[in-house]
Amino acid sequence: MSSVAFYTLGCKVNFYDTEAIWQLFKNEGYEQVDFEGPADVYLINTCTVTNTGDKKSRQMIRRAVRRNPEAIVAVTGCYAQTSPGEILDIPGVDLVIGNQDRDQIMTHVKNIQATRQPVNAVRNIMKTREFEEMDVPGFADRTRAFMKIQDGCNNFCTFCIIPWSRGLSRSRDPKSIITQAKQLVAAGYKEFVLTGIHTGGYGDDLENYRLSDLLWELDQVEGLERVRISSIEASQIDEKLLEVLNRSTKMCRHLHIPLQAGHNEVLKAMHRKYTTEEYYAKIGLIRQAMPDVGITTDVIVGFPGETDEMFRAGYDFMKAVGFSEMHVFPYSKRTGTPAARMDHQIDEEIKNDRVQQLIDLSEEMQLTYARTFVGQTVSVIAERSAKGAPGRAVQHGFSDNYLQILFNGDDSLQGELCQIKITEAGVNECRGELVGISHDSLQTSAG
Ligand code: SF4
Repeated sequence: MSSVAFYTLGCKVNFYDTEAIWQLFKNEGYEQVDFEGPADVYLINTCTVTNTGDKKSRQMIRRAVRRNPEAIVAVTGCYAQTSPGEILDIPGVDLVIGNQDRDQIMTHVKNIQATRQPVNAVRNIMKTREFEEMDVPGFADRTRAFMKIQDGCNNFCTFCIIPWSRGLSRSRDPKSIITQAKQLVAAGYKEFVLTGIHTGGYGDDLENYRLSDLLWELDQVEGLERVRISSIEASQIDEKLLEVLNRSTKMCRHLHIPLQAGHNEVLKAMHRKYTTEEYYAKIGLIRQAMPDVGITTDVIVGFPGETDEMFRAGYDFMKAVGFSEMHVFPYSKRTGTPAARMDHQIDEEIKNDRVQQLIDLSEEMQLTYARTFVGQTVSVIAERSAKGAPGRAVQHGFSDNYLQILFNGDDSLQGELCQIKITEAGVNECRGELVGISHDSLQTSAG
C-alpha cells in the first residue's frame, strides 16, 4: 500500500483543506503515515501570513526531502500560491499547487511518478470566482466539526497578504453545506464551527442568499445542537443576522469580531472599514439581541504610526467594550503589503510593552466575564479528559459562550451535551459540577 504524510501550517482553513486532500489519497487506497517517518508522498500545506510562515514552510519542505529523497514532495497552500518559483528552487520538490485545482492532485502525482518531472500547477487565483468543493466526511476531533463555507477576501487590509494567496471572496453552495451538515450529524457531531478566510463575507457573491439564510437552514438540521461562526466583521452583522442571534437556539453565544485597533486613525491606515463608534454601536445591538454573549477579538499593536496617545485611547476603548478575550499580536512587517512600506514603523521594545499591557487587560476582562456565570448552569460538550486529583476523572470542554470548563466525570461523557453548574471562575479555565445531560436549549439558567 502506498503511503502519504501531511504537514499543515497556519489556520483552521488550511487544516480543513488538508483533511479534504487526505480524502483524495484515501480514495486511491493510500494509508496516512507520520510526517517524521518514511512515506511515498509528502504533502506540505503552507502558510504565508507572516514572513515566518514562509520560512517555516521552507523548513518543512526541506525536512520532507531529507526524510525520503525518493518520495514525491508536493506543496500546496498560501505560500505555494504566492511564491511557486521559490518553492520549485528547493531541490527535491516535485509538485507545487496553490489554493485551487486540488482535485487534480492525484493526476499530477501519478504523472510525476511516471516522468519524475517537477510540475508547477499554480494558476492566477485572482481570476477565480468558484468555491473549490472538497468533501470532508469526518475530522480527528470527534466533537466539533469545522465546516469550510467560504474562501478568499475582498478587504485588502494594508497589513495582510491573504487576498493575494486566497483570491477574492467565494461562497460555498448552500446545498452542499447542508448535505455535509447532515452527514456530519449522522457521524455524531453536535457542534459545527463555520470557517472561512472571511467567513462573514459568506453570501456576498450569491444572489439573494446571505449568511443569515444559511444559519436558518442549519437551525433546521435535526440532531445539530450548536452552530458557531469562527469570525465575523462588525459591519457584516446586519438586522437579519441579529434576528438569528436572537431567535435561533442553536447559535452559540459567542462571536469573534476582529477589532485590530481601537483608534480611528489606525483603523483608517489599516484600511479597516469601520470606526470605533460604529464598532461600539454594533456590539450594543448584538448584546441586546443575545444577552450574555461572549465577544472575543483580535488586536494588532504597534501598527506603523500608532503613537502612545493612540495606543492609550485604544486601550480605553477595548476596556469599555468589555471583551471576553483578546488575541493580541505585535505588528509584524509582511513583505509585499502596503503597511510594510509605511513610515513610522514602531520599535520592537515599544510593541512588546504594548502587547503585555493588552494581554493583562485581556486577562482582567476574561475573569470579569467568567465571574458573571458563577452559580449558573451552562451547556458544555465534553471533549477530552483532563488532569484532576488522583482517582478522579475530569473532563474538559467549552460552553456555548466559549468558557473553557473542567468538571468531574468519566470519558463516557465525551461528545455529550452536559449541563454544568459553574462553581469557580478562572482566567483561562473555569470549574463546574455536572448537573445533567441534556439535548435541550443552550440557554443558561440561574440557580
Ligand atoms: S479581512 Fe483583512 S485581515 Fe482578514 S483576511 Fe481579509 S485582508 Fe486579511
